[in-house]
Amino acid sequence: MKKLPFVTNEQLQEIVKQFPTPFYLYDEKGIRENAKAVKEAFSWNKGYKEYFAVKATPNPFLIQILHEYGCGCDCSSMTELMLSDALSICGEDIMFSSNDTPPQEFAFADEIGAIINLDDFTHIDFLEKTIGKIPKTISCRYNPGGVYEISNGIMDNPGESKYGFTKEQLFEGYQILKEKGVERFGLHAFLVSNTVTNDYYPALAKTLFELVVEIKEKLGISMSFINLSGGVGIPYRPEETPNDIQKIGEGVRQVYEEVLVPAGLGDVAIYTEMGRFMTGPYGCLVTRAIHEKHTYKEYIGVDACAANLMRPAMYNAYHHITVMGKEDAPCDHMYDVTGSLCENNDKFAINRMLPKIDKGDLLVIHDTGAHGFAMGYNYNGRLWSSEVLLKEDGSAQLIRRAQTPKDYFATFDCFDILKDMKYPE
Ligand SMILES: *Cc1c(COP(=O)(O)O)cnc(C)c1O
Repeated sequence: MKKLPFVTNEQLQEIVKQFPTPFYLYDEKGIRENAKAVKEAFSWNKGYKEYFAVKATPNPFLIQILHEYGCGCDCSSMTELMLSDALSICGEDIMFSSNDTPPQEFAFADEIGAIINLDDFTHIDFLEKTIGKIPKTISCRYNPGGVYEISNGIMDNPGESKYGFTKEQLFEGYQILKEKGVERFGLHAFLVSNTVTNDYYPALAKTLFELVVEIKEKLGISMSFINLSGGVGIPYRPEETPNDIQKIGEGVRQVYEEVLVPAGLGDVAIYTEMGRFMTGPYGCLVTRAIHEKHTYKEYIGVDACAANLMRPAMYNAYHHITVMGKEDAPCDHMYDVTGSLCENNDKFAINRMLPKIDKGDLLVIHDTGAHGFAMGYNYNGRLWSSEVLLKEDGSAQLIRRAQTPKDYFATFDCFDILKDMKYPE
């Protein structure tokens, strides 16, 4: 399928008059339509809730939009908890799914009433010592070990992953938690990342539902909620078929009817913690070609770099690129599209066939609405870009300004670099 940006060249030429490149642009309409579809896909389950993985796109404007569709927040750190709390998304609207958790974060999560999802057996004791009690509601993260394979060959390696309880630890942990007075129990697992298939959630649901039946039989504990976590992917490549959330929801419903209902567990709430699927396709990085270099290869230098979008450099991830105004031009030039970091892996594309690019062209780097801006860093003293929301009415709203040198130097309390210095705002 031909991938086109959610913004037209005409619209974008107007937006860049208002906001200098590079910037992240988000599509309000796309985010809303998708959030609605997710809600509908799981509407068969009375207690269903999506906890948006805040780490994917920690922007209050976007989280607020998702909250209108009933989404809570999945947080993993103090600042993510603070962000949710500042939006008055608190109590059981927060799932605190962290790992290697500092004590003050457990304490704050408990203070604001978040559901704590324990990553490890030893955290039962650690939590109790830290906050002086065990909350009435608690969740545990499961890691089945080994290799987890879905029907069509898609797999991952939980046995090599640092997360979760082993099965034995899980049974012992729930027993201990029950003795300590826990009243509502949850089970969580995140086994495969970015699955572009409708089969992952149903397969994971089957694994977890069967385990929950076993827990009921052996420990007499009826799980209150099952958290399928994240991992529902998006088609980064044009040839991939997007997931159909309606089919995914229906697949989970069938397993629910098959496994949980006959075991007398027809009241269990289904939770999800999707990040990528909620915002990934509805964000792009807008950047401008500023250099053209011919050496042993053809290079296009753009004004964004890996500090703005790390995925290509870190994971060798593919992100589709559209050269604006040349959407229908033949892709008859091969380029490496690079940023300015002093690192040779700072390339948004390698050997990519694209239309002929001229200096000044705008490039849209697709599918960066999740794990994009959020993974930004400041290497080479490169600053974070702004974030802009393309609203439903076609207007553009700044939802985070770009970082300035003043922000960058702000932590040098003991050395005032900016004193008497003229610097660009
Ligand atoms: C990252 C993460 C998610 C979101 O994952 P996506 O692949 O973006 O859906 C959900 N839960 C936990 C615990 C995570 O670490």
